[in-house]
Amino acid sequence: MSGTPQLTLKPGRERSLLRRHPWIFSGAIAEVHGAPQSGDTVDVRAADDRFLAWAAYSPASQIRARVWSFEETEIPGPDLFAKTIEAALALRRAEIPAERTNALRLVHGESDGLPGLVADRYADTLVVQLLSAGCGKWRDTLIGILREQSGCARVQERSDTEGRELEGLAPSTGLIAGAAADRPLEIVENDIRYEVDVAAGQKTGFYLDQRDNRARVGLLADGREMLNGFCYTGGFTLSALARGARSVLSIDSSGPALELARRNLALNGLEAGRAQWLEADVFGALRTLQREGRQFDFVVLDPPKFAPTPKDAERAARGYKDINLNALKLLRRGGLLATFSCSGGVSSELFQKILAGAAADAGVSLLLRERYRAAPDHPVRIEFPEGEYLKGLLLERR
Ligand code: SAH
Repeated sequence: MSGTPQLTLKPGRERSLLRRHPWIFSGAIAEVHGAPQSGDTVDVRAADDRFLAWAAYSPASQIRARVWSFEETEIPGPDLFAKTIEAALALRRAEIPAERTNALRLVHGESDGLPGLVADRYADTLVVQLLSAGCGKWRDTLIGILREQSGCARVQERSDTEGRELEGLAPSTGLIAGAAADRPLEIVENDIRYEVDVAAGQKTGFYLDQRDNRARVGLLADGREMLNGFCYTGGFTLSALARGARSVLSIDSSGPALELARRNLALNGLEAGRAQWLEADVFGALRTLQREGRQFDFVVLDPPKFAPTPKDAERAARGYKDINLNALKLLRRGGLLATFSCSGGVSSELFQKILAGAAADAGVSLLLRERYRAAPDHPVRIEFPEGEYLKGLLLERR
C-alpha cells in the first residue's frame, strides 16, 4: 500500500513477529516513517526492509503496535475483518453446542486475530469492548460486521477497562445500537438461568470463561456442603445447588453481585434454604469461619486477577497462598477444593507450586484430581501464551 506509514524495527527485534506474536513494543522500533496517528495501519519492516506485518499504531502505549495480519496480501480493512470474524464464529459453532448456552464470547482479542476486540453475545444482545487504538479507528466497521454476522441488533459497549487507558483512550460505555431492552437480560447456561447486567455488571456482565468448569463442579457437588468464595452472581453456587449440593455458603465483596445472585436463585426455583449469602472480604471471612469451627466438604475459590503481568507474580502468589491455605483449614477429609487463578502473570506451574506450599503449611495431603482451563470460546494460540490466563485445579484432601 503506497503511502502507508512504516515502522522499521531494530536489528534482531523481528524475531517475535516471525514467531507470529502480535505485539510490537516501543523499544523494538528503530524508526517511524510517515507520521501515523492513533489506530492507523502501519507497515512493519525488519531492519533489512523485509515485510513482517500490518499493524495498528498506538502512540500512547508501550505496546506501540498490534498486528492485524502477517500476510502482505491481507491488508487490514472490512474484508479482512469480516473474514476473521467469520472464522471466530465458525470456531464457536464447531466447539460449543447451541443447547449448552446462549451466551458466548464470539471474539477474544489477540487469540482470534483481532487485538483489543472482545465481543460477547448474551441471548439477543452483543456486548463489545474496543480496547486498542486499532479497534477505536475501525469502530464502526467492526461493530457493523459483528451485528451482521451475529444477528444481534442490540449492542452495548463496555470499553471501560484499564487496558483502554493504557492505549490512551477514554472509557466509553452505553447502548450503541438497537433499542433498550424492556426487561432484564437473561441467559441460559447448562440449563441454568442467569440474569446478566450488561450495563453495570463486572467485565461484560458475566464470567463466560468458567462455563465448563461451573458444569463440572456442579456434577461433583451432590450431597456436599459447599463454600463458594468470590461467587459474583452465583455461577458455581447455582450449578452446585441444581445438582444436589446440600448447602452452599457464597461469599463476595460486591453487594450488587450478591443481589443478582439471590435473584438468580429464585429464577431457577431453587430453595432459598440451601443457600446462604455473605457480603464480605474472602480473606477475612475464611479466618472468621475457622474461628467459628466451620467445616465444608467442597470449597470453590475463583478470585479476581491478582497479577495482570509476571512482575506482580510474587505479590499475587502471597494472595493465592493465603486464601488457599485458609480454605484448606476449612476442608474435611475427603473434601474437594476447586481453585482458580485468572492471573496471566501466574503460570500453571507456579499456581500448582503455590497450592503445594499451602498444603504443606496446612499439614494436609492433596490428590490432584483434575485441571481446568477456560471454555473453548476463549481459544488459545500457541504463539500468544498471554491468551492462556485461566487455570484451575481440583484437589482432594486425603
Ligand atoms: N466465579 C464467578 C466469577 C468470580 S469473579 C462466576 O462464576 O461467575 C471474582 C469476584 O470476586 C467478583 O464478583 C468480585 O466482586 C469478587 N471479589 C473481589 N475481591 C474480593 C474480596 N477480597 N473478597 C470477596 N470478593 C471479592
